[in-house]
Amino acid sequence: MFHTHYQPEYLTSDTISGGVVHCFSTRHGGVSTGYLSSLNLGTHRGDEWDNVYENYRRLGAAVGFAPEQTVFTRQTHTDIVARVGAGNRGDGLFREVEPERDGICTNEPGLALVCFAADCTPILLHDPVRHAVAAVHAGWRGTAKGIVARAVETMTREFGTDPADIQAAIGPCIGLCCFETGPEVPEAMLAALGEDAAPFIRRDGTLPSALGGEAAEKYHLDLKQLNALWLRRAGVSRIDVSCDCTRCRPDRFWSHRFAGQERGSMAAVIMLKE
Ligand SMILES: [Zn+2]
Repeated sequence: MFHTHYQPEYLTSDTISGGVVHCFSTRHGGVSTGYLSSLNLGTHRGDEWDNVYENYRRLGAAVGFAPEQTVFTRQTHTDIVARVGAGNRGDGLFREVEPERDGICTNEPGLALVCFAADCTPILLHDPVRHAVAAVHAGWRGTAKGIVARAVETMTREFGTDPADIQAAIGPCIGLCCFETGPEVPEAMLAALGEDAAPFIRRDGTLPSALGGEAAEKYHLDLKQLNALWLRRAGVSRIDVSCDCTRCRPDRFWSHRFAGQERGSMAAVIMLKE
C-alpha cells in the first residue's frame, strides 16, 4: 500500500522497509515557478539550478537524505543498470552524468539513488538481507527490454541478492486508462513476454487515419503490471503497485502526455541509511 505525506507531498510504499529511506515525489511542495511549479526535480527542464537544489533540500529534509548524497540516472530508454558507489555522489545535481544508465544500484549506505518520471514507470528495489537498493526508469521501451529484470540480475551478480528477498515498489505512472498507443507497443511487449503480456494489453478501436494514411489499431497498455510481470518472472514476489495515473491527475503529478515539454520532473529516491 502507498501512503501520502505532505510538505512537501510525496508517496511511500509500506512494502519497502528496514534500514532504508525512499519516496516518490509529486509536483507539490517546492519553490519552482510557472509551469515548473513547484517541486521540479529535473536539472534539464529549464529551471534555475538554485530552485532544483532547494527542492531536493526540502524533499530530502522530509524523507531523510541530503542533496549532496544524490546520484542520478541518465535516462535514454536503455536497459542499462549501473552499479554506483561513493565516487558517484553528486552525479547529476552537481555535474552532468556521462554514461547512459536508466537504472542504478548500490550496496553502499548514504547514496540517494534517483530516477525520474513524468508518465514513465519509476521502480524502487530494496534487498534488506544483503543491504542493496536500486532505482529504475522504465518507459515503454525500457519495459519491453525488461530493464527491471536486468536490475534484479545486476543485484544478484553484484551483491549476492536472492530475488525472493527483494521488496519492490512500482510508483505512479501513466495508467491503462490513459496510455494509448499504436500496434508497435503491444507488439514489442508480446515479443518480449509472450502471451503472459496479453492480460495487460487492451485493444481499443482504431486511431483516426492521417491524411491519405491507413487507420491504425489503437491499444491501451498497463505499464505497471507489465513491469510487475517482469519482476515475478525474475523471482520477486513482494511487489507493491501504485494505483495513481499521472495523466489522470495533472494537478498532482507531471504528465508528459498532458503537458508536453512544459513540465517538471518527479523523482523516485531510495537510500540505505548510514
Ligand atoms: Zn489515466
